[in-house]
Amino acid sequence: MDCLFCKIATGEIPSTKVYEDDTVLAFNDINPEAPVHILLIPKQHITSMADITEENSAVVAHIFEVAAKIAAEKGFADGFRVVSNCGDSAGQTVKHLHFHLMAGRDFGWPAG
Ligand code: 5GP
Ligand code: ZN
Repeated sequence: MDCLFCKIATGEIPSTKVYEDDTVLAFNDINPEAPVHILLIPKQHITSMADITEENSAVVAHIFEVAAKIAAEKGFADGFRVVSNCGDSAGQTVKHLHFHLMAGRDFGWPAG
């Protein structure tokens, strides 16, 4: 499968890693929208949030544990945003499930 984030997960395409374990990788976004902009992905290919099921959702729970840990370790636990764009109309450009973890500035709401 020709998937950018699968290749980042295996290391075939390099990334600036923030956290890694057997099932999850977190790395800096190449085009940051905030002073801190980290992407969290499952290493297994899941296309989007629309493809989360009872069978594969454990890794999603784990991703959120990792996000909280990164926020605490980097000292921004009191203010950050997690976003997952699902599908073309929501602006999903990479079709491998990922969560944007952003911090370091104020965020407006609702997001545009
Ligand atoms: P989406 O638009 O699908 O929600 O988010 C995809 C994100 O991946 C974008 O924020 C984009 O900057 C980031 N991105 C795209 N290609 C690369 C890459 O090769 N390396 C890294 N680190 N981030 C990427
Ligand atoms: Zn993939």
